[in-house]
This record gives sequence, C-alpha cells and structure tokens, in this order.
Amino acid sequence: MSTLDGSIRDDFPILRHRIGGRPLVYLDNAATAQKPVAVLDAVREYYETSNSNVGRGYYRLAFAATDAYEHSRSVVRRALNAEHADEIVFTPGTTAALNLVADTFGRAVVGEGDRVVVSGMEHNSNLLPWRRLCDTAGADLVVVAGDPTGRVEPAQLAAVLDERVRLVALTHVSNVLGTVNPVRELVAEAHRHGVPVVVDGAQAVPHRPVDVRELGADFYAFSGHKVYGPMGVGVLYGRRELLSELPPYQVGGGTVKGVAPTGPVRYVPVPARLEAGTPDVAAAVGLAAALEYVEKLGWPGVRAHNEALVRAAVALFGEVPGVRVLGDPAAEPAGIVSIAVPGIHPYDVGGHLDGLGIAVRSGVHCANTFVDRLDLVGTVRFSFAVYNTEAEVRLVREALRTVEPGFWTREHPTERFL
Ligand code: PMP
Repeated sequence: MSTLDGSIRDDFPILRHRIGGRPLVYLDNAATAQKPVAVLDAVREYYETSNSNVGRGYYRLAFAATDAYEHSRSVVRRALNAEHADEIVFTPGTTAALNLVADTFGRAVVGEGDRVVVSGMEHNSNLLPWRRLCDTAGADLVVVAGDPTGRVEPAQLAAVLDERVRLVALTHVSNVLGTVNPVRELVAEAHRHGVPVVVDGAQAVPHRPVDVRELGADFYAFSGHKVYGPMGVGVLYGRRELLSELPPYQVGGGTVKGVAPTGPVRYVPVPARLEAGTPDVAAAVGLAAALEYVEKLGWPGVRAHNEALVRAAVALFGEVPGVRVLGDPAAEPAGIVSIAVPGIHPYDVGGHLDGLGIAVRSGVHCANTFVDRLDLVGTVRFSFAVYNTEAEVRLVREALRTVEPGFWTREHPTERFL
C-alpha cells in the first residue's frame, strides 16, 4: 500500500500530458525524474528576480544571485548531513563529479603498479573515469563482482584490499537491478586498510535519505535531475580534509586570486576552486527546491511509497508467464525493477509499452559490463518515483501479457543499445 496520497500527481504538470491519447505512465525515473511545480517556480523566480552572475559583480542583484547559490549549497549540505557547506561542490552532474575526483584526487594518489577497485555493477560514469586513470597511470583496475545481484559484501572487498590498492569506487545503488551495496560496511572495510572510497550515489539519493557522515564516504556524487531537480546540476561531496587539498579540475574564471603570464598561480579555496566558469545557478536553486520538496513530503513516506511499488512490481510482473524479474529488487527496494522476457528483444518490449503510453528504459543502461554478466542483450527497466501508483504497475502487468516479438527480435536479436 502506498503511503503518499495520489494528489501528489497534481504537483507534476507533465503528468497531465497524454501519449497517443493515453495518460502518460512515466516509469523511467532512474534516467531522470519529472519536476514538481515547486522546482519549476523556483527556477522561474530566480530568473525573474535574481538572475546575474555569482561571486563576481559588486551590486545588489549579484549579491542576491550569490546568496541564492550559496543558500542552495547549504540546503544540499543539510540534505546530505555533511559537516560543512564547503564540502559541497556543484558540478553539471554525477558524471562530471566522478570525472572531477578521478582527474584530481585519483591522479594524485594512483601511480604505476597501483590498483583501483570498482564493483561489477558500475555505470560507465563510475567505470570509465577509473579505467582511463588506470590506463594513464599504468595502474590496474580490479573488479569485485559481488553476488549474482552485484552486491559486494565487505569480505569480498577485503579479499582484494592489498597494499597496492589506492582507491575504491562503488555505486550505492545499481541503476540496472536496483541492488543496494552495503556502503557503510564497505567504507569501514576500506578505511581499515587505509583506502579512501568514492561513492556513486546517483540512484540512491532519490530513494533514501543519504547521510554522508554515517556512511563515512570520502567522496559522494549525485545528479539533481534524478531527484526532481533540473538537469544541469549535480553534486560532489568531499570530506573537507581531502577536498580542500584538491588541485583545480578545470581552470578559469572564479578559480584564482591572482595570475600573471608567468610565476605562481594563486588559487582560491574549495569549493570555488573546483567550480571554474559560470555555474548553472538556476539549476542549483531548483535542486535546493527539489530537496526541500522531498523533505516536505517526508522521507519515511517517500521511501515507503517507492518500496511498496517495487514489491508490487516484483509480485505482479512475476505473475506474467515468460517474464523474468532480474536480481532481487525486493530484498532492499530502491525504486528499480528490471525484467527480461526471454525470446523478445528489450526494445520490442519497450516499444510495445510505449504504444500504451508507458515510458520505460530498455537496453544496457550505460552499464554494459554488468548486463554482460547477466548474459542478456539488455533489460527492460521500471523505475519509480513519488507520483507513480500501484494502478500503473497493474497496467504494466496487463501490457506485459500481450507483448510479442517484433522488429528488433526478428531483425537485430543481438543488437544492444546504450
Ligand atoms: N551513475 C549511475 C548509477 C547512474 O544511474 C547515472 C545516470 N544514469 C549516472 C551515474 C550518470 O548520471 P548523469 O548522467 O546525471 O551524470
């Protein structure tokens, strides 16, 4: 049973949209969530009342924009329970945040013959930055596969933590199967070996209150757009001791106290040192409004709602002959359920659902190494948000009963997509 009232749908104007004459059933929230009026209004209000550049101009409007931007940082700090606002760096998204850590912290700590450890279910955004770093440094990337659902147990991590390991990078929640890593225990294990941990929280932050101090993570990244905020903004949290030591990532406006054609460059402290150029201030303001929106709904209710939908999906989709629910998404529900329909290409399943107004993600979800391990061409992924309902889950169950092999199954049965 859902604990959120159905009237919540009124907060999301896009849900009034019809697809081919049918109500939109949006179940691709792991790709990006829809935006409530509170976020749309915050962005609009910022542009209507405060827009100017931040941290630069010496006039009242510029002060207002800077205040709005820094207020957003403090809202993020509170949402993550970080200790200091200067531990919060705004980035364009999770991908940018992870590249930032790899190219600054990673470069500083990983050298020839060293090792970086990742889990077997990483999104390419938390795999490629480390692959490239290792290739450049002459280091090795070690993959801990975990159990069949991808979950890494502390003992499995401990087994690879030797003196060559300089860094561990892990996803909090898999964007393919919704598997949850026991991050707190994994961080504790890595720290016992003196190894810092970077966590990809892109799929966790929309579904649970994340407390970076409780988790103990050294770095934690997420995207605003997956937690009802605008596109164009994400967050890198870094523990002050580590973050404050990072060299600039990109260099440019806003990062220096002084520079001349030759001689030393004097950079400003973090977070500004890591935010070169004009940031997306309106998106940061929108992200703060999104986090406040979720806070107002109440995390216990949001979490219970998403968990109920996952449990309903596992039970109801499992009733359809031929449908395989992948992994064990109900073990610790995190808003994601993936299925396979053996003999039918995921794109044919996605296309059939789209014909009924149901938007889902089909393919390898930018995590092809994990999907390879599942020995599938791809999965069909359903991902839930506060506005989804059990009625929608039942609608999907009925739609799955009528899915048939189509163009992709006949013409390109092994073709894979992002
Ligand atoms: N990591 C995970 C687990 C994700 O699901 C995603 C988004 N699909 C990303 C990283 C990348 O996020 P973004 O595209 O917002 O940078």
